[in-house]
This record gives sequence, C-alpha cells and structure tokens, in this order.
Amino acid sequence: MLFGRRKKNPIYLPDKGVQEWKYATCGYCSTGCAIEVGINAAGEAVTTRGVADAPVNQGKLCIKGITEASIFTAEGRANQPMLRQRHWDDWQPGSWDAALDHSATEFKRIQAEYGRDAVAVVSTGQLLTEEFYTHGKLVRGLIGTNNYCGNTTLCMASAVSGYKRSFGADGPPGCYEDFEHTQCLLAFGSNLPEQHPVIYWRLKEALEKRKFPLIVVDPRVTMFSQFADIHMPIVPGTDLVLLNALAHVILEEGLADEEYILAHCNGRDELHELVKRYDPPSAAKICGISADQIRQVARLYACAGAAMSIWTMGINQSTHGSDGVAAINNLNLITGNIGKPGGTSLSITGQCNAMGTREWGSTTGLAGHRALENPEHRAEVGEFWGVDPDFFPRQRGLAMTDIFPAIEAGEIKALWLVATNPMTSMPNTARIRKTLEKLELLIVQDPYQDVETAQYAHVFLPAAIWAEKEGTFTNTERRVNLVTQVKPPLGDSRSDLWIFNQMAKRFPGYENMSFPEAASEVFLEMGRLSKGEAAHGGQRYLDISGMSHASILAARGQQWPLREGESEGARRLYCDGVYPYADGKAKLLAMDWQDINERPDAEFPFWLNSGRVVEHFHTRTRTGKVGNCNKFSPTAYMEVNPDAAAELGIEHLDYVRLVSRRGDAIVLAQVTQRVPRNMVFVPFHFHDCVNRLTLGLLDPYSRQPAFKQGAVRIEKVDQLAAGQLNLALRAY
Ligand code: SF4
Repeated sequence: MLFGRRKKNPIYLPDKGVQEWKYATCGYCSTGCAIEVGINAAGEAVTTRGVADAPVNQGKLCIKGITEASIFTAEGRANQPMLRQRHWDDWQPGSWDAALDHSATEFKRIQAEYGRDAVAVVSTGQLLTEEFYTHGKLVRGLIGTNNYCGNTTLCMASAVSGYKRSFGADGPPGCYEDFEHTQCLLAFGSNLPEQHPVIYWRLKEALEKRKFPLIVVDPRVTMFSQFADIHMPIVPGTDLVLLNALAHVILEEGLADEEYILAHCNGRDELHELVKRYDPPSAAKICGISADQIRQVARLYACAGAAMSIWTMGINQSTHGSDGVAAINNLNLITGNIGKPGGTSLSITGQCNAMGTREWGSTTGLAGHRALENPEHRAEVGEFWGVDPDFFPRQRGLAMTDIFPAIEAGEIKALWLVATNPMTSMPNTARIRKTLEKLELLIVQDPYQDVETAQYAHVFLPAAIWAEKEGTFTNTERRVNLVTQVKPPLGDSRSDLWIFNQMAKRFPGYENMSFPEAASEVFLEMGRLSKGEAAHGGQRYLDISGMSHASILAARGQQWPLREGESEGARRLYCDGVYPYADGKAKLLAMDWQDINERPDAEFPFWLNSGRVVEHFHTRTRTGKVGNCNKFSPTAYMEVNPDAAAELGIEHLDYVRLVSRRGDAIVLAQVTQRVPRNMVFVPFHFHDCVNRLTLGLLDPYSRQPAFKQGAVRIEKVDQLAAGQLNLALRAY
C-alpha cells in the first residue's frame, strides 16, 4: 500500500539547461539570502537556487527569490536613454551623452538661477553599496545640493533615528543567531512570515529546538500573530503608550537591571518619572491591551534572562515612529538586553540594501555614518575625497517627504529619482502627481521604463538591474554580501555606478577627485575611509577595512565591524556596554505620547491599515511582472471584518470603493476575521490604490510618514463598472 507523497504524482523539476551557477545576494528584501543564478548555454538567466552553505538562508529562498531569474527580461525593461521637452510629449530615444549632457546642463542652469538647493536627488535602498557611495560622492562633492535623500525615508528612517537617539549611532546591534539564544521574543508591527519569510524560518527553527515565549504586537491578526503565544491587538499609533507601560511595570516592580543601567545608561530617573503616568490601567484605555496582559508581558520580558525585540513598519510608519524605536531600546536597556546572545533590539530592515545606503549613501550625512553637523567628519571626508569641507552643508537638508512639499512651494525646480517610484509609494497620490507636474526637470533612472513616475519625466536613464552588476548589499544583521555580475546589462542600459561616474565628469571639481570604475576598487576605498576613531575614543563600529569582495564571497557574507587584520566580523554591537556617545553611555529617553493621528469618526469610521504580502515587493515594478507572484496575488484587495461587511451589505469578493479625505480607490472585499470591526487592511503594493487614501502625517524626527494611521469609509459600487476599472488599472 502507498502512503502520503508516494500516492501522488512525483514532482518533476524541469531541466532548464543550466550550464553554470553564478553567485549573488537576493535583490528584494533585507534578509540577505545568498542565491545562485542558473545560466544556460545562450548566457540567459533561467533559474535560481539558494546557496546551501550560506549562513543567512542555508539554501532557502522565498517565492520572490525562487522566481528572481525572470526579472532580467521582464516586460517594461528599458534599454536606451530617452528625452522629451514636456512630460506629455512622446519620448525621443537619445544617446547616453545626449541624456547626461542635458541632465547636467539643466541641473547647473537651475542651480545658477535659483541656488544650489533648487535641485534635489532622491535615491533608494535597491542599489549596490559601491553605487550608493559613488552617488553620495557625486551629490555631496560635486553637485552640492543639500536636498538629497533616499526612499528609505518611507520604511527605515524611524529605526535609524531611534537607534541614533538611544545609542549614539545607527546600526542594528543584534543578529539572526540571537533567535537561537533568546528566552523571550517580542515582535512589534512585523508580519515576519510574509515580509521576511527566511528570517521567519530561522526563528521557527530556533523555536522547534527550544520553546520560548513569542509575543506579537499588531492591530491585525497577521500570519505571525497566529503562531504567537500572546497576540496583543493594539490600537493603531499607540505603541509608545504600550512601551511606556511595560517600562512602568518593570521599573515599579523592581524588575529592571539596575546594575546595567547605572554602568551604561543616562536618563534613568527622567524615564522613571515619566512612565509613572503610564500605569497599566490608564495605558489600557488608550492602547487597547488589558492591564493584566501588560503586566504579564512586562514580567515575562524582564525575567527572561535574555529577551529580544524585533520590529518593522508597524513601528516605523507612524507619527511616533522614532519614539517607538527609542522606547523599544529603552525596554532593552533597562532589562540589560543589548549586546548579549538572545538579548537585543533588532530592526528588521526593508529593502535589500537599505542598510547599504544608511551606511555609505551620504543621504542623511556623509559616508560611513559620518555627520554633516560634525566639523571633524566634514574635514575627514573632504580630505579623503579631495573636496573643500566648506563645500559640504553644515546640517542635513530636506528628507524625501519634505522635498515634495518644497517642489510644490516652488523652492525645488529639478528632481533626479533613482530607482524609486513615488507615484505609487508616497502618501496622497493626487498631490504627488500635481507636484511632479511642476518640475522644470525630472530625471528618472530605473531599470523599468514603465515605472509609474516615468510618466512625468523629461529624461529617462535606463539602469542595469540587480545581478547585471557587481557589488555588495548589507542585510538586516550588518552582513555584507556579494552580488556578482551574472549577465551583461540589457540593451544599452548601464550600471548605476557607470551612470554616476559619467555624470560626475560633467560637474566642476571632478578633476580633483577620483571615481574608480570597478566596484571592487570602490569597496576598497570605502574600507580605507571606514577606519578611524569613534566619538567615545574607541574604534569606529562601521569598519569594513578587513573585507574585500573576495573575502565576502568566500565567507558567503561578513558582518561589520570587520577591521583590517581580523578574519571574522562582530555578530553583535555594544557587547561591552560602551555606546558611541562621547561618554560611552546609552540614553534612556523619556517620551510622552500625544494623540495626533487622524482617527475613525462618524464620516470615516474605519482605520486604514496597510502592509506587504509575501508575493510582492514594494511597488511591483518587478514582482508585478513575475507570473507566479501575480498568480497568487493578482489584484488589490481590502480585508474587512464579517460584522462590518454584513452591516454594509458587502459580500466576499464584491468590489467596493474606499474613500478618505484625500481620494478614493476601488478594491475587492476579502471578508475575514483578521481585522477588527473598525479596521480595513489593504496591501500597499498596487498603483492607484492605498496611497490615493493615505494622509501620511510625518514623524517629527525621522520624517517618515504614518502610512498606517488614517480613516476611511466603505461605499458599495456598481460591480461591472468597478471590475472593468480594476482590470484597466492592473493591465500588465
Ligand atoms: Fe529574497 Fe527576502 Fe525572499 Fe530571501 S526572504 S529570497 S532575501 S525576498
């Protein structure tokens, strides 16, 4: 008799004719999976597989990595530069010289006419680190605008800001291996199985070997919360209240690690004084978590021995995002859970190289975690690059989310967008459209010419994609891993490194600087710049001088800091309790919560929540064209609670119109208990959808928008007309 699998048809893997496997790191999320791309006899990328001996993923990939080979030739790839006078004219193909000459000439004209900062540059988390570094050198050292930022403002800015405020520097202190040591895991606003499936697999492996409490804080019953021991369905935007209440219980009940606090932290008394006001019964009324559960979780966390917190967008995309991160750091500092195995506060980052741009992109400062506000840092980088330090601004300019209002106000006239798609990703689409129409010059540099924002561009620069180039990515746990070039760029598209180098030649001052052409040389230059002393007198943390492309490939990724002469990087930061503030101590921050979000009311009675699904990445420029990703997640939908649906007469799979104070969007209704009665959830990937509705109030520190805290109403619509509209919108 046959049982189980043997009774079914066997699974056949089609022979794709792979002649050679080439090494890369996945180009989607920040997990940093090592991947091999299969190349056939014609030199085409035909398939992928996980790298079995890679420490991050040990052979595993998620659906996006498994289907990644198809992105090289997906529909919409651009293969030659294009120009036009006005954005409604037809595109005219042009040479690289014509496109770059026009872009540089117009940038210089606008700067001469309106000032240096009248041009803005918005980068991404998708490029290779060597490209980020070169881009920063070009923008800071030659173009000289201070309005230079990255789309990472939409996902990770609050984590960066919170880390800097608490610890004195950016950089996640923990690593994936901490799952194997922790005795309590607290996850905030993170749907790990869908957002970072391979990190989730690491966690699950650890849990299968050794049980420890898993606590998930999320307003929605996510896949992650269904696997949790405790789910805390918090009221949107009130994380700071919950975190202050947890700190209240720990400090009031004498559960804090006072020895650690005394030796390594400032601000204990101020924090204690503030959180006295956040007693569990009072906090419960605001955050919706019962007083008993707050006490239970606080005690579990404080008494665990080694406890760790992870978070993603649920914390970051908030008007209190930076405070939320700092409050998570507070929780870990007062319990002595930083820098020890299983005891950490680990921001799970978003894009494949969000970390690389934080480290080397110079968007919020200068290369290598240096600050514009620090004269020594300006002098170091100026001398290293061959730039007069006085050419650098003395403080950070506008963030991405402030650049668009400045365009609206007429202060910025030209914008260069690199691998970012604000027409889909920014809140309040209608306003972004009007803003882009005001520009005298919009340059879009992207591998895909059908990216929605290109509709408003005057110059399109076709970039090579992912493993058509060589360089490095840094993942969530500070692991630098290599992407090798597995095939040449499509058509006349060029690597972003080449584009930046060519653009640099067109600005005065180029002759005093060096712009290496090979990514491996750029990496070694970054290594030399990474050495030095930190503010507290010790060595700099972001030191990669012990790495090279060859050593990274051999190890399948190396973590920083890895200093010259060392063979292995540090798994954790701050293990000695010394933090990069001048006195070596971390800051406990006392932060009061203010109710400033848009909330549901009689006219707009539902919270609007948004997030990611496993099949798609960001604005679907790539996954929207991958057959299997689209097959499993073809269209925009809204999760709605059965009670709310019944009250409104909405059936499962009806089309409905969601309306906010900003606009409306047509979505399919998915009736489910995953959301509470007063909330709807919409995936954020689809164009002309959730961001037509979002308000996007900004966090005061990070300038990150509150994508997840708005209000909408649901309206019934004509099913046939709505279906046709939806099909037209999602045509590809
Ligand atoms: Fe790529 Fe992230 Fe999936 Fe790994 S988990 S294969 S890095 S998308």
